[in-house]
Amino acid sequence: MRIVKIEPMGLRYIEPNDYNSTRHTMFVRVETDEGIVGWGEGMAMWPEAVAATVAVVEHGLGRLLLGADPLETLAHWHRLKEHTWWYGLEGGIASFAISALDMALWDIKGKALEQPLYKLLGGACRDKLPANASIHAKLATHEENAREIAGYFAAGYRSCKVGFGKNGHARLGQTMEYDIGFVREVRKLIGPDAELMVDIGANVKWDVAHAVKMTKAFAEYGVDWIEDPFPPNRLADYRELRAATNARIVTGERLTTLDQYDALIRSGVADVIAIDPARTDGITGFGQIAALVGSAGRKFNTHCWCSALTTAASLHLSIASPLAPIMELKPLRNPMQHDIARNPIEHRDGWVHKPEEPGLGVDIDEEAVRRLRFL
Ligand SMILES: [Mg+2]
Repeated sequence: MRIVKIEPMGLRYIEPNDYNSTRHTMFVRVETDEGIVGWGEGMAMWPEAVAATVAVVEHGLGRLLLGADPLETLAHWHRLKEHTWWYGLEGGIASFAISALDMALWDIKGKALEQPLYKLLGGACRDKLPANASIHAKLATHEENAREIAGYFAAGYRSCKVGFGKNGHARLGQTMEYDIGFVREVRKLIGPDAELMVDIGANVKWDVAHAVKMTKAFAEYGVDWIEDPFPPNRLADYRELRAATNARIVTGERLTTLDQYDALIRSGVADVIAIDPARTDGITGFGQIAALVGSAGRKFNTHCWCSALTTAASLHLSIASPLAPIMELKPLRNPMQHDIARNPIEHRDGWVHKPEEPGLGVDIDEEAVRRLRFL
């Protein structure tokens, strides 16, 4: 089997889970001479980064793979990494492009061998994962946001992660009193046992002193998952936060390379390492990082807040490992999960089950994908 066509594309979509903001990502469609088509995603997010990733595939990496046997995923991965030595040492755009191509090759391999991806990765360490409603708080009052969150638990989700500082009217991440008021209100509605996580994120600028105060205050309301209180390179700040609190600290979604993750994991500051297979050199790169996470005795959580392709890749990778505590889903119906895939991944009774279709298992609606193209 040979690769005969590689088509990168930039997509633009409206995301109901982010207050109907306009967001971007890139896909690559890889076709073989046997008619098998594989799909992959590079989670570049910004239109200029999407354009750059598309260009890297179109003018460089895609050409390297034309005519090659798609089943040789690891050999191709090394070739792509080697080729990008000049501009990809720190990951970034090169890693988004490699992610998309590597994911598509694994999709082809699964389809060609008629096996779901998790089996190619070594098999299922579990049959299902607890579904997490991964949301961006957007409503104007704590009460409205708390009601929305309680609704997700009522719908079966087993935990909820709330992004602070996002689009909309929630204004979370500004003052101590306001943010504690939010957590208090949510806890009141969801009850004492419901698992609530907070994702501080890029738009909220905490210093260490504030982070320590907030983390301790949140812990009083049973919130012990603090994600991205600082950028992942501020290891000294993470060390201080860790020394001062008992919360689970989660970070990593902005990193791309094995070296960067190695430094983060060795620092010992994070309990749960966020990894995105559409950013971290694909399925192959993810596996290498996950091995480091496991040997350090930590957990990983897949960052998959984009399309059905990355959600599927994340689910297979999480099923094929003992290290993933949850599976995040965007709870509101959205184009990148529900329009482009005829079989979107959903939870059943709060569980996300292992997929059994070959490859990634995403039944792509190509027409729907092409309607979202801007590049
Ligand atoms: Mg996050």
